[in-house]
Amino acid sequence: MLDVDGVICDFLTPALDAIERLTGRRPPDDRYQILDGYTDYEKADCWAAMNAPGFCAGLNPYEGARAFVDALRSLGRVVFATAPMKGPTWEGERRRWLLDHMGAAWGDVASVADKSLVGGVAILEDSPGHMRAWAEAHPEGLAMLWHAPYNAGDLALPHGERAHDYNEAFDLVARHIEALERGDGR
Ligand SMILES: [Mg+2]
Repeated sequence: MLDVDGVICDFLTPALDAIERLTGRRPPDDRYQILDGYTDYEKADCWAAMNAPGFCAGLNPYEGARAFVDALRSLGRVVFATAPMKGPTWEGERRRWLLDHMGAAWGDVASVADKSLVGGVAILEDSPGHMRAWAEAHPEGLAMLWHAPYNAGDLALPHGERAHDYNEAFDLVARHIEALERGDGR
């Protein structure tokens, strides 16, 4: 199961651009809550921009993301789990984006904030909180944290692994599935 924003989809760059355009100040890229430190008025303006029709549809995939997803498909079914934002067209744009950019099946997109509700043999996620919640709900699964500046200081990964690039994530999943097939999974 794949998280979308921050893992295969570059939400961050256009989000930071919008915040800088609207407030005159660019947030640092080393924190997960990108609007911490802004006023409530500024936050409302920025969320409105990120929720506006077209914002989600216009996001770019990270380089190599589609090849990574296709490679994962050689190991098994790839399902996408994405926490929806509240814009009126946001969820539809996200599903369309996953169909167009990642070749997702229409029904293999879970729009849910609590990723622990979605099963699977592995998760790749850039939020330490989501990753940890999934790991606790699926102790037999492989929980992987996608390395990013805003989670680099989160060192406590008792139940999981840190993946620094797509090749490393692919190898971790492949090894995990081999172990399951041998009957000595975690
Ligand atoms: Mg994410």
